[in-house]
Amino acid sequence: MSHAPRTVDYLRISITDRCNERCLYCMPEGFAGWKERADILTYEEILRVVRVATGLGLRKFRVTGGEPLVREGVDGFIAGLAAIPGVESISLTTNGTRLAPLARLLRTAGLGSINISLDALTPSVYRAITHGDVQPVLEGIHGAIKAGFDRIKLNAVLIRGMNEQEIWPILNFAAEHQLPVRFIELMPISMSEMLNETNFLPVGEVMRMLRERDDLVPLGELRLGNGPAQYFRLRKLGVTIGFIGAITNLHFCENCNKIRLTADGKIRPCLGNHNELDLRAILRSGGSDEDVATLIRNATTGKPPEHLFRQNYQPQRIMTAIGG
Ligand code: SAM
Ligand code: SF4
Repeated sequence: MSHAPRTVDYLRISITDRCNERCLYCMPEGFAGWKERADILTYEEILRVVRVATGLGLRKFRVTGGEPLVREGVDGFIAGLAAIPGVESISLTTNGTRLAPLARLLRTAGLGSINISLDALTPSVYRAITHGDVQPVLEGIHGAIKAGFDRIKLNAVLIRGMNEQEIWPILNFAAEHQLPVRFIELMPISMSEMLNETNFLPVGEVMRMLRERDDLVPLGELRLGNGPAQYFRLRKLGVTIGFIGAITNLHFCENCNKIRLTADGKIRPCLGNHNELDLRAILRSGGSDEDVATLIRNATTGKPPEHLFRQNYQPQRIMTAIGG
């Protein structure tokens, strides 16, 4: 398949592989294979990478994990990012559980926008999916609204048999607070056994379900942030919805503009491809900024045309270590 050249200007940075939740699709229950602290890049090392990356035209940065807010000092790190010339946007993806007390600090530090995962509103369903409590997440969402971010989006991973009944309640909640929601197809990232016909709920089926009650109006080329979602508006309810159909949308990779920095210092050009380049080895063996730049350049030019998720892809590394 041939693709037009894609401009890579977006780096997703995983600052930790640790998490205080255990989502079924992300982290195996009882998982304890954390990286040693010494293997995780320090904030200073990451900021150096970002300084070099901006010189190569990367402009947009997302902080993620694992759960980024379980690492100490995220606000100071965000302030460090914000101080780097060439950094145009800083965003964060979080499960929201620790957001309430931090939202204002993060905003003041320079965080522009925030994505909060919310797979269910019913406490028992939320718990069944994440092993956690939904209440602190709702408090986190309210804290974020009060802190006045440029944009707040809700993310929900679709799991057949678990959260179909949650879709309308999530949409009603989103409409009430005027937040866009993105529905994400399950990907075989951490646990290949989760991705089977029983659990997989394609975005097309959700669209059909929504059209039974409301008008789903395509928003054409609208992009909210830098993600790969296709946006629609539910006309009567008055809410904007993004669909991230990584598996069923055959054009999904065409506009992919990102690479990833894993918590342990590997550059990963594509989430759905095992290839990684070892940046930490360069950072910790006295490599020059030019060496760092060469590796990042190799990652951007070597980005595969599309992911391998449809080709019996077998995950080798859990999502929290890669950075969602
Ligand atoms: N802990 C934060 C959170 O949950 O938002 C940030 C990291 S998490 C890995 C980033 C995003 O990846 C979340 O929206 C999560 O729902 C999504 N995710 C994780 N595993 C996934 C999978 N197997 N398929 C689809 N999305 C997944
Ligand atoms: Fe943790 Fe986020 Fe993975 Fe859930 S999706 S286990 S909250 S890193």
